[in-house]
Amino acid sequence: MQEVLTINGLYKHYGRVHAVNDLSLTVKQGEIYGFLGPNGSGKTTTLGILTGVVNPDGGNFRWFNGGNDADNRKKIGTILEQPLFYPYLSGNENLKIVADIKKVDYSEIAEVLEIVDLSARAKDKFKHYSLGMKQRLALASALLGNPEVLILDEPTNGLDPMGIAQIRNLILRIADRGITIILASHLLDEVQKVCTHVCVMDSGKKLFSGSVDALEQVKGSLILASDKIDLLREKLQEHKGINKIETLGNNRILASFSSEQNPAHINMWLYEQGITLSHLEKKSSNLEQQFIDLLSVNQQPQK
Ligand code: ATP
Repeated sequence: MQEVLTINGLYKHYGRVHAVNDLSLTVKQGEIYGFLGPNGSGKTTTLGILTGVVNPDGGNFRWFNGGNDADNRKKIGTILEQPLFYPYLSGNENLKIVADIKKVDYSEIAEVLEIVDLSARAKDKFKHYSLGMKQRLALASALLGNPEVLILDEPTNGLDPMGIAQIRNLILRIADRGITIILASHLLDEVQKVCTHVCVMDSGKKLFSGSVDALEQVKGSLILASDKIDLLREKLQEHKGINKIETLGNNRILASFSSEQNPAHINMWLYEQGITLSHLEKKSSNLEQQFIDLLSVNQQPQK
């Protein structure tokens, strides 16, 4: 799959706060990519940098093949803040204004209204729309101009369960049309239900990036630490069941295996290879617990 976005060592600070701290990742065409993390973890700042609203202090990023900024901007639809529409105008009339701004033909309006299930209410005034309908109109406006990428910040914030389900289905429908979606959310459940890929963030740092399936597979995982960290990494790499090895900070290693591992056996095996572990912890199999564990490992003080 073609790369849509490449981020290298992105960095942004506000005073002493590291809002985005050495973030690197790639997003490929067709992915639904979620930035997942608690409040203040740097999701909005990252999206702000990617859309040119916030200037980074370091690192870089590239959209598509790195071509002209203005051309690339046309390929990206965004909803970063609460959308501003004219309350006394209908959904249809509001979209005409957006179409004028984007220099898009009015003929696209009926199609985007159809996609977001608002055709029947297109002539109603915006002020009479429910919060969910307002959010869907915002999606319709972002879809005008046929973007290749859609960027959404907390798309289901403030919605009731029905509204949340509608937006989630809508995101999946839009992705089915081949549009790459990048969204920020603090809800694990949302990311799990909607996204194909995820970057788990905390305090501006990336704790995990990869497919949502891979995050779930962290279940056959152990956290290990040793004075001989390089040898530990090397030996784990040789283990026939190893899937992925990540360095977690605090000189710890998160080793993901293709199946459940008995920590005692791993400990014995490593001991036979000349490695004494100073820490060995089995990861739990529940995804929510994985997420909490990832965050809590990040928050442990440096040794
Ligand atoms: P939320 O889910 O609450 O929106 P977030 O993950 O999107 O959180 P950011 O809004 O990116 O996080 O904030 C990351 C950090 O940067 C926070 O500590 C925040 O207080 C700080 N921050 C963000 N914008 C500014 C700003 N304009 N001035 C000062 N600090 C800022």
